[in-house]
Amino acid sequence: MSRITHQLSLNENHWPMLPGVREALEGSLAAVNVTGDALAARLEQRLATELGTAPGRVVAGAGSAALLQQFLSAHCAPGATVVHTWPSFDLYPLLIRNAGAEPVAVPGDADDRQDLAAVAAAVTERTRVVLVCNPNNPTGEVLGVPWLESLLDALPPHVLLLVDEAYREFADPAAIGDVTTVPDPRLAVVRTFSKSHGLIGLRVGYLTGVEEVVGPLRRTTPFYRVPTVAQAAALAALDAGDRMRAQCLEVAEERDRVHAGLVALGFDVPPSGGNYVWVRLGPRNQEFMAHLAASGVIVREVAGGVRVSTGLPEANDAVLAAARVFAGRPL
Ligand code: PMP
Repeated sequence: MSRITHQLSLNENHWPMLPGVREALEGSLAAVNVTGDALAARLEQRLATELGTAPGRVVAGAGSAALLQQFLSAHCAPGATVVHTWPSFDLYPLLIRNAGAEPVAVPGDADDRQDLAAVAAAVTERTRVVLVCNPNNPTGEVLGVPWLESLLDALPPHVLLLVDEAYREFADPAAIGDVTTVPDPRLAVVRTFSKSHGLIGLRVGYLTGVEEVVGPLRRTTPFYRVPTVAQAAALAALDAGDRMRAQCLEVAEERDRVHAGLVALGFDVPPSGGNYVWVRLGPRNQEFMAHLAASGVIVREVAGGVRVSTGLPEANDAVLAAARVFAGRPL
């Protein structure tokens, strides 16, 4: 067993803390005894400016999981259904049930791609929300804006479309586009500072949509949705936007290197726009995970595949070296 452990099971950001974040945290620690901006108004204003929209159309929250929960609780009456694609983020069914709603999982096509016609067909009069993940966790699939517009066209007026973009910054900007520019009042988009900005432990995310959709979330958590310390870090991270984008590009290049390496070894790995790849080994998933663990690489089985987060180059080298042995071609 190798003594070095590479933790590649949680899609974390392994790159250095963004410049200015540590200083902002230290500065805000000196003021934890004062109320500060309990409504995160400055952060919401700043996010609205970045998005080119009105502050009333952005609500900040304690990470995207909390915002997903608030959204579902605010918009789903008991007995409503929430249609989501599968495989996708494994927390969705739990969050949906927590909101008193019923999850309806729609399987992807033969290549595990999200199936627009099947999603539309699963919608009934009871459906309140359709939830899709872009890029999808774990498959890595990137949905372009035209795909999402076609889905909106296929949905009846009483259904909201919630797009979870937790990993958007790792995707090719030309491929993912910017769905927040689509002027449809049924559309909401949730994003997070946990992955691209490396602030998972501080819990900051935001959700954008029209005021009728966003407003009810403010009522489920009336104030201190984001602690002042986390607000300070998020604002500093936004100031470091160029560095953040450069780091995400480095992550994406490493992800593509791992993807290309695995495909060259004969593994079945769909292209990914996230900070991970999803290796489909069917009955050999567990064997592959055990083999990686013996090389000090910790990964996770998700749905029918093994999800390997993108780490620093050394960790990714360890993945490729172990995969090469597994594939029967020793170095
Ligand atoms: N959405 C997706 C698709 C995720 O994978 C995750 C984290 N694994 C989240 C949301 C939640 O992230 P956070 O609450 O840290 O923003």
